[in-house]
Amino acid sequence: MKNSIVVIGGGESGVGAAFLANKNGYDVFLSEFNTIQKKYKKILENNQINYEEGGHTLAKFFNAKEVVKSPGISNNSEIIIKIKSKNIPIISEIEFAYRFTNSILIGVTGSNGKTTTCSLIYHILKNSGKSVGLAGNIGNSFSFLTAENNFEYVVLELSSFQLEDIINFHPFISIITNLTPDHLERYNYDFQNYVNSKFKIISNQTSSDYLIYNYDDDKIISELGNRNINSIKIPFSLENSNGNNLTYFKNENINSNINNSNFMIPIENLSIKGKHNVQNNMAAATVAKILNISNENIRESLGNFQSINHRLEHVLTIQKVKYINDSKATNVNAVYYALDSMKSSTVWIVGGVDKGNNYDDLIPLVREKVKAIICIGIDNSKIIESFSPFVETIIENDNMVQAVKNAYKIAEPKDSVLLSPACSSFDLFKNYEDRGNQFKDAVRKL
Ligand code: ADP
Repeated sequence: MKNSIVVIGGGESGVGAAFLANKNGYDVFLSEFNTIQKKYKKILENNQINYEEGGHTLAKFFNAKEVVKSPGISNNSEIIIKIKSKNIPIISEIEFAYRFTNSILIGVTGSNGKTTTCSLIYHILKNSGKSVGLAGNIGNSFSFLTAENNFEYVVLELSSFQLEDIINFHPFISIITNLTPDHLERYNYDFQNYVNSKFKIISNQTSSDYLIYNYDDDKIISELGNRNINSIKIPFSLENSNGNNLTYFKNENINSNINNSNFMIPIENLSIKGKHNVQNNMAAATVAKILNISNENIRESLGNFQSINHRLEHVLTIQKVKYINDSKATNVNAVYYALDSMKSSTVWIVGGVDKGNNYDDLIPLVREKVKAIICIGIDNSKIIESFSPFVETIIENDNMVQAVKNAYKIAEPKDSVLLSPACSSFDLFKNYEDRGNQFKDAVRKL
C-alpha cells in the first residue's frame, strides 16, 4: 500500500512538501484554510495532487498516517489541537524534506541575521566552486529544493516555526546568531518557549557535528550552560579574543584559529558594514573554515558580497541626506544595530504592529542620534510614550509617501533618513518587502 500523508498549509512549504511527497510515491492530500495562490495551485494540479482550500475537512486529517505542518500554522491553532487529540503524528516540513536529502546541511537560526548569514555562507561556497543550494525561510522551501536538486551542500535558513516538530533533522553545522524576544504571540508570550524552539536545531547533533554560536549573547551562553550538548562548539565574539577554536574581533580585524588554521580579514574589507554584520561575517567565515575553504576564497567572497534588499539598504542620497531602507528590522534588536551604525543625525521612521516591544534598550542611541521620529503605523501610542521625553519632534503618518515627505522636510544636509520599523508591517502594508518598496518608491519620487 502507498504511504499516505496530509499536508496542512498551501504556501511555499506546504506545496513543496506535497510536491516532494508526490514525487516519492506518497498518496498526498493538501488542505489550506485560506485561498491558495495561483502559482501553487498550478503545481498541485499539474502533478495531480488532491487539495482543498477555504477550510479543513477534519475526516481527511483523522484518516492520515502522518500530517506535515507548514511553519505558518501555529501549534495553538484549533486544527492542530484536534489532530493532536487523535494522536496522529505531526512533523514539520523541514523534517519531511530531511528524509529525502543526502546533502551536507548547514542550518542557521537566531532572532536576527539569519538571511544575511545564510547568504554569506552560500556566497562563499558558491564562489569557491562548491555545489550548494540555499533554502528554508529564504527563497525555495527545503522540500522544493530537495525534490529538484541534489547539491553537495545545502544552506538552510530556519525560523523557530520551522524547527518546531522536527524529530530526526540535524544539520552538520548549526548556527545560532543571537536570541532576543520575537514572535512571542506564537509562544504563549514566554521567551523561553521561543528559545527552546530555536535550540531544537542542535537536538539531534552528534559529537562530529558543529554548533557555531554568538559568545556575546547572554541568553545563548546561559542556555549552553543548562543543556547537554553533543556538538563541537565554536564561538564567535566581538568582545572576547582569548582561546583556541574561535572566531574573534581584534584590532579592527576578524580573526579565526579553528583547528590550528589561522584566518584574518580587516573589517574595512568586508562588503557589508555595521557591528551586526561583523558578527554575521564571523559566523560565515567560521563555517567556511570548518569546511576547509581557502583563506583566499573566504576573503574574496566576504569582500565582494552583494548586500541584500531591505537590510540597511542605501537607497539614494538627496541634497546630501542619505535615505536608508531597513524595512526588515521587525524587532527592537535589529533597530538597535541600525541606529548603532548611523554615522549622522537621523530622522527615524518607525512603527507598525507592535509585538510586545520594550524600547528601553534604544533610548541611549535615540538620545544620541535621532533628531525626529516619524511614526508609520495605525497605533503609535507606545512609540510616542517611550520616546517623547527624549525627542521633541514626533509626527504620525499612516502612509509612506507622507512619511517620506515629512522626513525630507526635516532632514538637513549630512543627516540620514532611516526606515527601521521595529514592528511588523501588516497594519498598513502587505509585508516588509512591500513596506520597503513603498519607501524606496517614495524616496525616488522626492
Ligand atoms: P533574519 O533573516 O534573521 O530576519 P536578516 O539578515 O534578514 O535577519 O536581518 C533582519 C534585520 O536585522 C535587518 O534589519 C538587519 O539589518 C538586522 N540584522 C542583521 N544581522 C543582525 C545581527 N547579527 N544582529 C542584529 N541585527 C541584525
